[in-house]
Amino acid sequence: MLKIVVIIVMLLFVTACQEEEAVTRLSIEPVHESVAPENDNNQIMGGINHVEIVQNDTSGELWGYQPRQAWTKFDHYATVNEEGFAYNIFNDPDISSEISPITEGSDERILFFTFDDAPQAPDSYALQMAETLKAYDVNAVFLVNGMYMESEEGREITRKVHEMGFEIGNHTTTHSDMSELSYEDQLWELQVTNDMIEEITNDRVRWFRPPYGLYNLDTVLVANELGLQLITWTFGYDWQDDYLDGNALAEISLTTDYLHPGANILMHDRPWTLEALPRIIEGYREQGYHIVDPYLIQHQENSTVIHGLE
Ligand SMILES: [Zn+2]
Repeated sequence: MLKIVVIIVMLLFVTACQEEEAVTRLSIEPVHESVAPENDNNQIMGGINHVEIVQNDTSGELWGYQPRQAWTKFDHYATVNEEGFAYNIFNDPDISSEISPITEGSDERILFFTFDDAPQAPDSYALQMAETLKAYDVNAVFLVNGMYMESEEGREITRKVHEMGFEIGNHTTTHSDMSELSYEDQLWELQVTNDMIEEITNDRVRWFRPPYGLYNLDTVLVANELGLQLITWTFGYDWQDDYLDGNALAEISLTTDYLHPGANILMHDRPWTLEALPRIIEGYREQGYHIVDPYLIQHQENSTVIHGLE
């Protein structure tokens, strides 16, 4: 049974983002050396995570990151531990990166919202999506592509979405199939976009989703080197021909057989997704689900001891 589920999930991965055009590499030079700051001095305070003061290996400068705190009203369904986290994420990226409560007293009927391909040029809806989510007291992760942040407009959208309290994740620089790239090129894909995000947000990046859900062992190793949580997803429909419409998308999102506690739900920076969001949020809440604040999810090292990868 598990095998069948895995195969179905893998099929969903392969078809994800299929309509997206291939893109040419940006003019940014590849980096061949990791400059990711180490995380040894990570400070975590009660209820607040992501307070990080770390030293840059090469320059010795101190990097400052903003204190990040969950801002949704989660107290009635989640209990945080002393480090400020309420949820674990399943760290085997080959399954579906679902979440589960760490602490007793947390409701298990939870969902995790993630948005890819932001801020998609030429017409990004990421800002309106963030405003809609905020109006519903829903937090989420927006995963961006470096190619969309070459423009001042793209950087501005990313900055504003982050300022509103949303975490910005890495969806690679050129939206390439990582499994076809060398270790060095994969490092470039993630490092360039990480650097852009950190410059724009002054916040550490911790989420990474490989385009199309495709990756290999090198991807996992690069993600671990950069301290990125590699995530896939449970289900998503907004790139499939039958669901490029707000009503159809809301309907399938609320009725799909893949909907279950812990699900990691993939959506994109698209107009019909923006249109469907209110109905999706209200519908999940009517079914008793809570959409978790990503700041409550504990980061883990991605497992390499899976499915013969090591
Ligand atoms: Zn994508």
